[in-house]
Amino acid sequence: MNAPRFAHLLRPELADLAAYVPHAGDYEIRLDGNEAPPLLSPDARAAVAQALAAGGLERYPDPRATELREAIATHVGATPDEILVGTGSDEVIALLLTTLSQPRASEGAATILTPSPTFVMYRLSAAARGMRVVEVSLDERWDLDVPAMRAAIEAGKPNIVFLATPNNPTGNRMSEDRIRAVIEAAEGALVVLDEAYVAFAPGSIAHLRHAYANVAMLGTISKIGFAALRVGWLVGPAELVREVDKVRQPYNLPAPSQRAATLVLRELRAEIDHVVAHVVAERERLGRELARLGFGVSPSDANFLWVETNRPAKDVFEGLASSNILVRSFHARGGRLANRLRITIGTREEDDRLLEAITRWA
Ligand code: PMP
Repeated sequence: MNAPRFAHLLRPELADLAAYVPHAGDYEIRLDGNEAPPLLSPDARAAVAQALAAGGLERYPDPRATELREAIATHVGATPDEILVGTGSDEVIALLLTTLSQPRASEGAATILTPSPTFVMYRLSAAARGMRVVEVSLDERWDLDVPAMRAAIEAGKPNIVFLATPNNPTGNRMSEDRIRAVIEAAEGALVVLDEAYVAFAPGSIAHLRHAYANVAMLGTISKIGFAALRVGWLVGPAELVREVDKVRQPYNLPAPSQRAATLVLRELRAEIDHVVAHVVAERERLGRELARLGFGVSPSDANFLWVETNRPAKDVFEGLASSNILVRSFHARGGRLANRLRITIGTREEDDRLLEAITRWA
């Protein structure tokens, strides 16, 4: 094949990247994406549908997302000037990277630091911007390895440190004293605490935002039942939000998503609590059953389980796929992830189907 005529225009770092396709193919049961099971009541569903359809088609959305930012501010205990919204926290991550990409050392690239394993978009988004990515392995309990993080911060001078807590894919929260130690070591960097899964955890660490000037938080409604809307947010110091706002496209969040998400945060709290209670109860049940079948199940504070298989994870993954059930396998990553699956909590029926199918592969 001839080289594309624009090859000389491509950013070199794209050569090492592949498009991130979270899932491919149709499966009857999808427990791969950390989405919520469809448990919203018909009334709540109708209210969201009405909000989606309410506005005109001809006008652009509110470029400042005023109502939604007010609703988020109330939800997280902040002021609207401390909130920036994106099409999912994915976009917010990208905007932060674009904003804070000035190299800290006179030679060398702007750098981000993340534990490993963690949510892949930090790495992909940074690499796509030509930023250097430093990864530090989590310890044997998937918690932060503070001495290794300190050393990497000292050597790598990161612009941003991303910490997801609860973490994806390991499901656990990082211990707060270790998070504090990393924040204190990373004085010249922004530390982003990603609480995408906080609804399923016993508590938030949002108070750290007030304790340290170099901390910002990420939030989303994707995991609590509204992934289709693509609404995520940054909560941070107003002076940071102001800068990030300069690189945000004015109409980044469609009007239907703004309206529906505002309704969700203002009116549907009881509905969300119901979905979360189901997920937490199912998480305990599914974890118990999987452990009974001989799988290693890590403690989870999220809406998924981090499971160690007792035979090659690839076989279990393919066995489930042949039963029309999709989970996430990490066998391709090798090392201590080689026998790991990430299984999203589904409806009771979906989880029963998973258990029934997995028994054959246990
Ligand atoms: N942060 C973490 C830790 C996640 O696991 C995910 C979703 N996989 C996101 C952020 C992205 O969420 P959103 O749908 O808001 O882009």
